[in-house]
Amino acid sequence: MDEKVRLKGTPIKRFDETITVERSSTAKYAWTAGQAISRFLVELKKGKLIGRRCNKCRRILIPPRMYCESCFRATDEWIYVEPIGTVNTAVVSYITTTREKLEKPLIIAVIEIEGTGGSGLFHYLEGVNPEDVINRKVFGMRVKAVWKPEAEREGSINDIKYFVPITGGEEK
Ligand SMILES: [Zn+2]
Repeated sequence: MDEKVRLKGTPIKRFDETITVERSSTAKYAWTAGQAISRFLVELKKGKLIGRRCNKCRRILIPPRMYCESCFRATDEWIYVEPIGTVNTAVVSYITTTREKLEKPLIIAVIEIEGTGGSGLFHYLEGVNPEDVINRKVFGMRVKAVWKPEAEREGSINDIKYFVPITGGEEK
């Protein structure tokens, strides 16, 4: 083959020959949490837990949803519930959500909110021994929400700091 034949096209350039352009973007966007979760977040900021009741299956959906996936129909009404529940399941985590090692392990639980017919929140559990989680002693334990001070709330599930056990004789 003739060494002098040059193929058509753009030859690959060395990196230091490439042209770079710097620019910054000012993209603006809005995002909606949707009708049900928006109300849920607004109520959390007020220190209240709200769900949607389905009048057919009688469940209260927490977090709320505008549609009952069990009955295939729209849910009927907003209803406040007490921020108390039962630990359905829990795990002990020794790492953060960004995988850094923790000195003090986190306990994450699924808490079935009382009176909802099976709706639950995924949240932190404090005031229990991690060993009691590993030994499953916390399962079925009644717990209550501990809220952030009102001035620190921002309309987030983390406006509830964590759940703690309800100790003997205590109602809420
Ligand atoms: Zn239903």
